[in-house]
Amino acid sequence: MVFSIPKENPLRRAAEYALDWILPPQSLLSIDPDSDGTPLWHEVKFIDEPCCEACGFPFEYSAQAEVLCLRCSAFRPAYNRARSAFVYDDASRDLVLGFKHGGRTDGVALFTAQMSRAGRKLLNETDIIIPVPLHNSRLRRRKYNQAAILARRLAKSQGLQLDTDSLLRRRKTDSQGGKSASGRRRNVQGAFTVPDNRREQIDGKTILLIDDVMTTGATLNACAKTLKRAGAAQVEALCLARVVRAANLPT
Ligand SMILES: [Zn+2]
Repeated sequence: MVFSIPKENPLRRAAEYALDWILPPQSLLSIDPDSDGTPLWHEVKFIDEPCCEACGFPFEYSAQAEVLCLRCSAFRPAYNRARSAFVYDDASRDLVLGFKHGGRTDGVALFTAQMSRAGRKLLNETDIIIPVPLHNSRLRRRKYNQAAILARRLAKSQGLQLDTDSLLRRRKTDSQGGKSASGRRRNVQGAFTVPDNRREQIDGKTILLIDDVMTTGATLNACAKTLKRAGAAQVEALCLARVVRAANLPT
């Protein structure tokens, strides 16, 4: 049976809306130079070595092995190593925020492929993958935890165990957006916990934390402290993007 819906019919608008949701008219990863306002994948700055051995801050020039940036030399993070796939800046902002707040998941396969590249040394030593948890109230509002989406895909592609029950956010924290480095640290202090019945699961293990954007590293640091206190042998972190200039802090 063939039938048509009048152009101004609300049913047609609903059908078009549904189709846009299923098949976005313009992919997040479009490389069409004429695509107005769409982030261009080829302008994204990917991060690889050389970088700070601890936080993964990219260095311009090759240095001797295991060199730390100034910040990590002064204050070594609780996590062992953190790596990120690309720089969070003007070129990648829409890409990241579309995923973080806009519910766009059409880039997840490419995102995790790039995370696997940046974190290949970490993934080789990982026992368990754990996403940075959201508080339940934020999860209800946002409908999904973008770190868990990345973690699930990575675990599947790498054949690693995913664990979303051993690290929980026990209190609701303010958004980290707009806070100074010390404000961010205070905001997440004591915010995470490992339930007693999950301690055995992480005891002596090498954990890989997954998050979307690393800014000052305060959240990863708080998670790593909690996991190590609960018995984890090593805690590393792999993120989609990281801020390298304070001016680019996401909100
Ligand atoms: Zn560093």
